[in-house]
Amino acid sequence: MSTIPDIIIAVDGYSSTGKSTFAKLIAKEFSFLYLDSGAMYRGVTLAGIEAGLIAEGKIDEEKLVGILDGLDLHFRQEEGTTLLYLGERCIEREIRGWDVSQYVSPVSAIPLVRNYVDERLHSFSEGGRVIMDGRDIGTTVFPNAEVKIFMTADPNVRAQRRYDELVAKGETTTLEEVLENLRDRDYRDSHREVSPLRQADDAFVMDNTHMTLHEEVVWMLGLLQGRFGLLETPGLSC
Ligand code: C5P
Repeated sequence: MSTIPDIIIAVDGYSSTGKSTFAKLIAKEFSFLYLDSGAMYRGVTLAGIEAGLIAEGKIDEEKLVGILDGLDLHFRQEEGTTLLYLGERCIEREIRGWDVSQYVSPVSAIPLVRNYVDERLHSFSEGGRVIMDGRDIGTTVFPNAEVKIFMTADPNVRAQRRYDELVAKGETTTLEEVLENLRDRDYRDSHREVSPLRQADDAFVMDNTHMTLHEEVVWMLGLLQGRFGLLETPGLSC
C-alpha cells in the first residue's frame, strides 16, 4: 500500500461546476492544502469596487493595477478550511456576492492582475501538497502539476446550483440572470488573450452533471489509485 506523495493537483473548469467544493473535499480526505485561485481574482475585484475604481460597468484598469502592490490578499487556514483575507479582514462572504461576480471576469483578463495573482499563488504553494482550483492552473500556473482535472457540467444544471446557493445567502437574483452571467463568464474566460480557460492535454475530464459529491470523490480515488497504486486511505467521510 502506498500514500499519495506531495504533489500538486490542478482542478480547472467552467464556472459553477463545483470545483471548489470538490477540491476542498479532496484536500480534507487526503490532507492537502486547498487554494482557490478564483478567490484571489474575486479579492482584487472587491478591492477595486471598494476603492471606487469599478462601477457602473466601467473598470479603471490603470488605477486598479496601481493598487496591486499594496494589496495584502492572503489565505489563512481556519476551522479546517482556507479563507481569503484582505489585511486583517476575512472577505470570504463579500467576494461571493453578485457585485463581484459581475466584474471578476473582465478584471481577471488584465495581464498585470494575472501576474499578481500567479505570483501570490506560487508563494502560497511553496510547501507543496496543494490542490488548487481555477481556470488556468494546469495550463499556466502549474503546467507540471502531477494530476490535472478538468470539470464540466450542463450549463442549466450549473446555473440552478449557483442560483440555489445565492438564494440561500439571501441574494435577490433570477435563474435567467445567473445563467446569463455563467455563460458570459464561460465565454470571456475561454476567449481572453492571456491564459484562456482550456483543457490541458493531459487533464482527466469529469462531467459531473449527474454525479453526487460522493461519486466525485470515488472517481478521484480511482484515478489516484491508478496513478499511485493501492492507497492507504482513511475511510471516506462523504
Ligand atoms: O472560480 P470562480 O468562479 O470563483 O472564479 C471567479 C473568476 O475568476 C472566473 O470567472 C474567472 O474569470 C477568474 N479566474 C481566472 N483564472 C483562474 C481562476 C479564476 O481567470 N485561475
